[in-house]
Amino acid sequence: MPPARKHTPWRTVPLPPDWASEVRPRILARDPRCRLRTHCWGARSVEVDHGDLGPDDHSDANLRGVCARCHAHRTGQQGASAANERRPKRLRPRDGRHPGIQ
Ligand SMILES: [Zn+2]
Repeated sequence: MPPARKHTPWRTVPLPPDWASEVRPRILARDPRCRLRTHCWGARSVEVDHGDLGPDDHSDANLRGVCARCHAHRTGQQGASAANERRPKRLRPRDGRHPGIQ
C-alpha cells in the first residue's frame, strides 16, 4: 500500500482539555442516536460533531452525537472546503484573451 498522502488538517483549533473525559461522554449520553442522519436512520452515536457555530465552539448547543458514517462524510466535506479555501480563486485573470488565441 502506498504511504498516506500528507495533508493539512482542517482542525486548527485545539479541543478543550476535558474533551475526552467530560465533554464527549456527556454529549454521547445526551444524544445516544445519530443527530445527522445524512447516511443512516438513527444509528448509535459514537462520535461528537461540531455544528453550525463552528469547530471552535465547544458549547453543548453546538455539539451533537453522530454515528461514524455520517461524521466521516461531514468531516470529509469540511476538509474539502478548507482545501478549496487554500486554492487560488482563478488560475488566470478574468480579463484578457485566452493564451491560445493569437
Ligand atoms: Zn448517522
